[in-house]
Amino acid sequence: MKKLICLFSVILFIAFLTSCSLDQAKPFETDGFGMGTVISQKLYGRNARRAADEVWGKIHYLEGLMAINAAGGDVNRLNEHAGQGYIALCPETVTVLQSAIKIAGLSGGAFDITVGPVVKCWNIGADSPAIPAEAELKQLITLLGYQDVHIDADRNCAALARAGQMVDLGGIAKGYAGDAVREIYQKQGIRSALVNLGGNVVALGKRPDGKPWSIGIQNPRAANGKYIGIVQAADQAVVTAGDYQRYFEKNGKRYHHIIDPRTGRPAASGLMSVTVVAGSSTDADALSTAAFVLGLDQGMQLIKRYGQAEAIFITTDNKIYVTEGLQGLFTFKDETGEFTYVENR
Ligand code: AMP
Ligand code: MG
Repeated sequence: MKKLICLFSVILFIAFLTSCSLDQAKPFETDGFGMGTVISQKLYGRNARRAADEVWGKIHYLEGLMAINAAGGDVNRLNEHAGQGYIALCPETVTVLQSAIKIAGLSGGAFDITVGPVVKCWNIGADSPAIPAEAELKQLITLLGYQDVHIDADRNCAALARAGQMVDLGGIAKGYAGDAVREIYQKQGIRSALVNLGGNVVALGKRPDGKPWSIGIQNPRAANGKYIGIVQAADQAVVTAGDYQRYFEKNGKRYHHIIDPRTGRPAASGLMSVTVVAGSSTDADALSTAAFVLGLDQGMQLIKRYGQAEAIFITTDNKIYVTEGLQGLFTFKDETGEFTYVENR
């Protein structure tokens, strides 16, 4: 009997050790395509594979709801009913619309999901994009205005006030997906994970060795994966909006995908990228796009006004500025020698 108890204790002890070390073991990693971008997951823990599978399901579900071209999806139906009153939507779409309107108000309309008609006109990312005529853009920007997105959250309904208006959630949906992924990880008992949705990174917890995650900040003019610095993050979203993510060039000029709603043209605010670090991935996504439109000074003010975010700005003259709260967490590391880190401004 004594022997049996002894053996049982040993087995229990080994099981305990195994469960401890499982979190430390090799991560489960998976890459795939969704929401128009490459998505990679790195998870530690026993349920890693199950959690990652659930994430893929969720991503494709959200894509179906929120992609502008997903036939029968929420955004598609909302746009088709523009000017025709309220329609019922899924609660998650309503949540994203509310977050979008919040950041639109905070940014004075620099972030504006009603850019749909202008985005469609530019068709950046397509095979043969063309530069629209000034008159056409002038006409189209009269359709813009986030105040025309009416939301009845209690009934999960929304409406677009005027015919021809079009919502495009491209600047916030991946951010929302990042928050949704984190929720799945937490539900599955994962304590340490990193998900990257095409530049929208969410770090869950710390690395298994107890250190914060190191997240590379892309050099906006170098190949994918070449960094100008590293930011340390734990339990935070690190989201970048940049002029290198989707663009075309004509006559030596770059036409990228972030639109200034005031002009209907790619924002020319003197920035190449803005990275926002915040608890909410949804807000970080919208804020990064907004700050990109606003430029360095007003973008910095926006981040301050929001109150719970930090940011890294890279200007078109190759200077890097970071908000105060990030200064100890950002390491400037530029192999090209082309960038300057401006520590105090
Ligand atoms: P992001 O990559 O998060 O900066 O978002 C860029 C995407 O958001 C674009 O591809 C458009 O679909 C959409 N977008 C462009 N300009 C704006 C804007 N000013 N406000 C909101 N969404 C925008
Ligand atoms: Mg964004």
